[in-house]
Amino acid sequence: MKQFKIAAVAILLATASQSTMAQDPFDYKVDRFADIEVLRYQVPEFESLSLDQKRLVYYLTEAALWGRDILWDQNYKYNLPLRSLLEQIYTSYTGDRNDPQFLAFEKYLKQVEFANGIHHHYSTDKFTPEFSREWFESQAEGKNCPVLTEVTEAIFNPSVAAKRVNQAEGEDLIVTSANNFYDGVTQQEVEDFYAAVKDTTDLTPVSYGLNTRLTKKDGKVVEQVYKLDGYYSKAISRIVDNLTRAMTYAENDAQRAIIARLIDFYTTGDLATFDDYSIRWTEDTASRVDFINGFIESYGDPLGMTGSWESIVNFRNDEASHRTEVLSSNAQWFENHSPVDPRFRKDKVKGVSAKVITAAILAGDAYPATPIGINLPNANWIRAQHGSKSVTIENITDAYDKAGQGSGFNEEFVIDEPTRELLEKYLFITDNLHTDLHECLGHGSGRLMPGVDPDALKAHGSTLEEARADLFALYYLGDPKMLELGLLDNPDAYKAEYYKYILNGLMTQLMRIEPGKDIEEAHMRNRQLIAAWAYEHSKKDKVIELVKHGGKTYVKINDYKALRDLFGQLLSEIQRIKSEGDYAAGADLVARYAVKVDPKLHKEVLDRYATLDIAPYKGFVNPVYTAVRDDNGTITDVTVSYGEDYLPQMFRYSRDYNGLDD
Ligand code: ZN
Repeated sequence: MKQFKIAAVAILLATASQSTMAQDPFDYKVDRFADIEVLRYQVPEFESLSLDQKRLVYYLTEAALWGRDILWDQNYKYNLPLRSLLEQIYTSYTGDRNDPQFLAFEKYLKQVEFANGIHHHYSTDKFTPEFSREWFESQAEGKNCPVLTEVTEAIFNPSVAAKRVNQAEGEDLIVTSANNFYDGVTQQEVEDFYAAVKDTTDLTPVSYGLNTRLTKKDGKVVEQVYKLDGYYSKAISRIVDNLTRAMTYAENDAQRAIIARLIDFYTTGDLATFDDYSIRWTEDTASRVDFINGFIESYGDPLGMTGSWESIVNFRNDEASHRTEVLSSNAQWFENHSPVDPRFRKDKVKGVSAKVITAAILAGDAYPATPIGINLPNANWIRAQHGSKSVTIENITDAYDKAGQGSGFNEEFVIDEPTRELLEKYLFITDNLHTDLHECLGHGSGRLMPGVDPDALKAHGSTLEEARADLFALYYLGDPKMLELGLLDNPDAYKAEYYKYILNGLMTQLMRIEPGKDIEEAHMRNRQLIAAWAYEHSKKDKVIELVKHGGKTYVKINDYKALRDLFGQLLSEIQRIKSEGDYAAGADLVARYAVKVDPKLHKEVLDRYATLDIAPYKGFVNPVYTAVRDDNGTITDVTVSYGEDYLPQMFRYSRDYNGLDD
C-alpha cells in the first residue's frame, strides 16, 4: 500500500523561519505543463555509503529502470508503439517549434510521458489532444509504427480506451477498463476463473492474479504469466541480469538470499516463491540499502488483483528513523488502545518495522509520480504472521516542501491568521508523523475474523483500507501519547494536521477533479469519506462548519477534541466492516460520502485555485548514476548528478531501457 502527498495542502510551509534560512541553491523545479509540475529530489548521504553499497545501489537502479516498459504495456496495450511514434515525431520535427499545433503536441507528449501512457496517472481518464488529427497524420508519415491505425484511434477517438481503470458500480469493470491486465474477457469470466482456482480454506493464500494477464485461448480463459520465457520475458531477463550483479554486493547473507528468491520468482512466476521472498524481505531490517522491485500494487486493476510493475531503491536515513523506531517499538500499545472493538484488535502486533528512507531511484509505477510512504507486503496473512515494513520517503517530502514554499495557498484557503500560524509551525512534523502512523501502524493494525475473505470489500477495498489507516493516524496524532513519546512538543500541534485534513477532504482536493466528474481514486475517496462523514456527524454540535467570508467558503473547526472522537468512531466502524467483510455497509459508506461532489463548492475551489498557479500533481525526475570503472570493468566508484531535464530523461530511458522492443 502506498501513501501519496496530500495534494497542494501540504505546500503551506512558507514559514517565517524557513524564509530567513540560507537560500537552498538546489534547483527543485524542472518543468511545468497541464496539471503537472516536475521536480527534482536530492539524495543526501549517498557519498556516505561504502563502495559495495554504492555498487549494490547502482545495479539495483539498473534493475529498476529496466522494468519501465512493462508498466507502460500493462497500462494499455498500445502505449509502447504510441510512445515510440510520439518521440520520433518530436525529435525529428524540423518545423516551427512555436507553432500552436506543435506546442499542443509537446504538451500531450509530456502528459503521456508523465502518466506512463495515454491515461492520466491519477484520474485514469484518457488525455485529450489539442492538436489536429490532420497535423498528426502528416507528422506520422514515414515514421516507424507497425500499428499506426490503432495508435491514431487511441489518441483521437474518445470512445476508444476511454479509461484505464473504471470503478463505476454496475458496469463491467474489466471490459470498460483499458488496462492490459485483461484482454478479451468479461468481468464475469474473470470472477469465475478465480472462483474456480481460489482455495477459500487456505489460510496462507497466494496473491492470485498478481503476475498474470488473463486472456482467451480457443474460447477458454487462460493466464499468461509474467516471467522469464513468459510474458514480458525480455524486460524481466534484463532485470534478472542486474539483480544477479547486485547480489554480489549484498550487505549480508540474508539480503543475498532475498535477491536470490526474487530472481527465482522472476524465473518461475511461482507466487508461493513470491510470498517466501516477501517474508524474507519483511524480516530484513538490518540492511541499510533496500529495494522494492516487482508486481506490487494493484490499484491499476479494477478488481485489485494484478500488480503494476514498480521499483524504488533506497537506503535508510538513520537520523530520521528514530521517529519511526519509537512508533514501532510501541506498536502493541497503540493496538491495545485503539478505539475499535477488542475482537478486531491484534493480540500481538508482529514486527511492524518502520524507517525513514532516502530514495535513490523511482521507477515503474512509482515514477515520475511517487508515493511518500509505503507499507508492504500487501498479502494479509503475511502481514498478520510476519508483520510488514513501512517507510516514509523523506527526501521526497523534503523536495515537495521546498519547492512549494511561497505558493500563496494558505492565504487563500486557510480561515484565519492563528490557524495559518498553527499550520506553519506544526504541519511539517505532523504531516510526516501522519505518514509514519498511517504506514507503520495504521495498515498493520486490526485483524480479520476467521473465514472472512480479504477481498470481501471488492472494488471498495482500497478506499476503505486507506480510510482505516488514515483514521488510525488521525486518531493517534491527537493522543497525549505523542507528547509522552517525545514525538510532538505541543498539545495543540495535532490541530494543524486535523485542519489540513478536513480542508483538503472537504474542499481543496477537488482541484484535481474536472467539473462534473465524480471522485474515483481510492486515496481521494478515502479523504472525502472521512472529512464528509465527520462534517455530517458534527452538524448538530457544530464541530466543523463551512463558513462564508466575502463570498468565499472556509473550513472552521470549533472543537478539535470532538473531532478526534469522531475519527475514533469512524475508525471503529470501518475496522468492523473490514474485520467482518461487511461489503454492504462498506459500499454504503463509500456511496454516501466518498464519491459525489457538490458542484457549487467544486467550482469555487477551481476558481480560487486558478488564481494561484499551483499544479495539482507533482512528480520527479531521477538523479543520474554513473559507474566509474577500471580497465577490467570493475566499478571503482558511483557518482550521482542532478542536471538532467524532464524530456531528455524520458527519451534516454526509452532509448537505453527499451525492455520489450524486438
Ligand atoms: Zn495507505
